[in-house]
Formats: sequence, C-alpha cells, structure tokens
Amino acid sequence: MSKVLDRFLTENLNDLKEKGLFNVIDPLQSANGPIIKIDGKELINLSSNNYLGLATDERLKDVANKAIEEFGVGAGAVRTINGTLELHTKLEETIAKFKHTEAAIAYQSGFNCNMAAISAVMDKNDAILSDELNHASIIDGCRLSKAKIIRVNHSDMDDLRAKAKEAKESGLYNKIMVITDGVFSMDGDIARLPEIVEIAEEFDLITYVDDAHGSGVLGKGAGTVKHFGLSDKVDFQIGTLSKAIGVVGGYVAGKKDLIEWLKVRSRPFLFSTALPPADVEAAKRAIEILMESTELHDRLWENGDYLKKGLKELGFNIGDSETPITPCIIGDEKLTQQFSKRLYDEGVYAKSIVFPTVPQGTGRVRNMPTAAHTKEMLDNAIAIYKKIGKELGVI
Ligand code: PMP
Repeated sequence: MSKVLDRFLTENLNDLKEKGLFNVIDPLQSANGPIIKIDGKELINLSSNNYLGLATDERLKDVANKAIEEFGVGAGAVRTINGTLELHTKLEETIAKFKHTEAAIAYQSGFNCNMAAISAVMDKNDAILSDELNHASIIDGCRLSKAKIIRVNHSDMDDLRAKAKEAKESGLYNKIMVITDGVFSMDGDIARLPEIVEIAEEFDLITYVDDAHGSGVLGKGAGTVKHFGLSDKVDFQIGTLSKAIGVVGGYVAGKKDLIEWLKVRSRPFLFSTALPPADVEAAKRAIEILMESTELHDRLWENGDYLKKGLKELGFNIGDSETPITPCIIGDEKLTQQFSKRLYDEGVYAKSIVFPTVPQGTGRVRNMPTAAHTKEMLDNAIAIYKKIGKELGVI
C-alpha cells in the first residue's frame, strides 16, 4: 500500500474509533424479517425498512423464482443496449399506475436514482433549494449536477419562500428546483408539500419529492404526494423499491417527456447494467399487492401506533413522528449507544443514531415497526424498553 494511503487510513480510522463513530456491522444469519438472527442470537428487529414485511413474502418469492427460471439471474446489459427486458417496461407501467403519473423509469437503486435524475436536468446555471435534512443521495445528486445548492432550514416554509424569491429575483439561474424528502426518516415527520407546491407555483420552481419512506406508508400506500392529493403538481416523484416494496431499485414517476429525457440523459440508465429479472418481477408484484389491498399498510399503522403508545406511556420521548417511524430520543450520544447495546443484550435490535447523522444532543434509538410484527413481539420489545429505561435512568 502507498505510504500516503496507509497514513490516511490509519489516522482516520483511529480517529473514528476514538470518537465512537466507527460503525460496526452485524451480519444477519437470517432474512431481514421481524425476528432476525445475529451471532446465533434471535432478536426482535426494529431496524429494517421492510415496512410491509414484503421482503420475505411468498408471493414475491414465487414470481422471482419463476423469473429466474425463464430469464436467468442477470439482465445482461445496460438498459439502452439490450438490457431492457419486457419485464422492465411492465414494471415501469405498473409504477406509473401506482403513482398516478403518465410514465416512470426504474433504476438499480434509490441512491442511483437521485444521482441520475437531478444531474440529468440541473446544471451549473441552475439552483436547487434543498431541505437541510434531505437524504445523502439527494445531496450527492445535487453536487453532481453542479447547480448552486441553497440549503433550506428543515421544513421552514418562510425560509423556503424567502430563498426562492431571492433566487428568482437574482436572475442568476435558468432553472430553480425545490427538493425534499417526502418523509424524513430520522424523525418520521412529513414534508409540508401543499405549501411547497404553492411556493413552487409562485416562483416557477421544479418540484422534486423523494418518497423513499412515504411510499407504501402514506396515501393508503401510494405515497406522500397522493396523501396530499398533489399527483399532478409534483414534477419528480422519486421512490425506492427497497423499503416498503421489499426488493431493490429506485424510480422516477412523472410526465412522459420527463421520463423520455431521463431515458436518454441519465447516466446510470445509460451506463450501468439493468435490474435483474427476479428483482423486477418481485417489485412489480409488490406494487400490485399494494394497489389491490391496504391490508399490509393498515397493519403497519396499527403496529406503529401500538409501539408509540407503549413507549410513550412508559415516559419515553418519542418526538413528533407523523408516521410509524418511532424515534426514542435519549439525548446524550454515549448513553444512546449504551441504551441500544443493552437492548441488544436483552433481545431487541434497534440501532442508535447519533451526531453527525442527527444534531448533537439528540441521540436516539430509532424503531421501525413493520406490518410483519405481531403484538406479542411488540409487547416483548416494550417490556425490554421498560427494563433498560429504568436501569439507565432514562424513564
Ligand atoms: N432516498 C432516501 C430518502 C432514503 O432514505 C434512501 C435509503 N436510505 C435512499 C434514497 C436510497 O434508496 P436505496 O436504498 O434504494 O438506494
């Protein structure tokens, strides 16, 4: 190894470890369902984005297996050469129906999708108004575009309006975009889309909503944009196929012309191999299930409300989540990490999230209940929370 790289790695890794910021990965020895196995130990899983439990659904496994039999395990090429199977176009038609848009385009991941879509439309002569708590992939997509990035205070509509006005009146930019998560995953709060759309209309802003955590969860499953009845007012509806949908992949849903443009200009679509057939079929089936019935969606909310009520009654600070995401705010970083570790010892897997992912002093253990949890599992988790909460003086 080069000396300079060796020094760089040693110094930085040691620094992270000393600050307690080095993330240790615990590989699962089971599927990522409501109960997981790590190191031979069974744990109640409150850390996955598998909101509806679809990652292990038999109906999805069945179509995925059939797709492998017929089409193999890989798509064989990038979409624009000959990696587009009919399965991909059917998935995209299904996404468009699900999102109430004219068309959709699928990518290999949600992360990829943000990198692809923002930079296909925005460039150095443009500006992007971006909520300060937007996901890392949005931040990276904005950077890649080379547009001027204007950070907006979290969900602060006065700040957004003032900055939109200033950007518009400066005359410096060809296009201005406003970009936001639909649901913010650290606190579970929902973007104020009606006001964002109103401001966008006033200043002719392009609207971009990344609904990674809202799809399958809000709007009876159709997402945050549908929840507010704004399907025809948002230009880019981004989603991921990896969370509520339970598989992998990302997408943009929008007007036909926008999707056509992304198909000729977005680089991961042009230069990275297409999603594998099994994933495409499984994702399509998952979306069909969501369109057929709200059963899983309803169970997710029931479980979310149940866990929130249980933790709140014990005296935990669960923040102001408006979705099933249930943060348990501990505050101090070290105590938060200790809390999560003790939960693990007692049989609950719930990750601690601390600075710099969330502001200093707001360390939390984040709980993601799913439709697949039983009441018994949640009761057990709540009982363990009670024990640790008392032991560590949090409640
Ligand atoms: N956007 C948001 C808001 C996310 O939370 C995530 C996942 N953490 C992504 C995009 C990336 O999606 P994926 O995991 O499908 O790459």
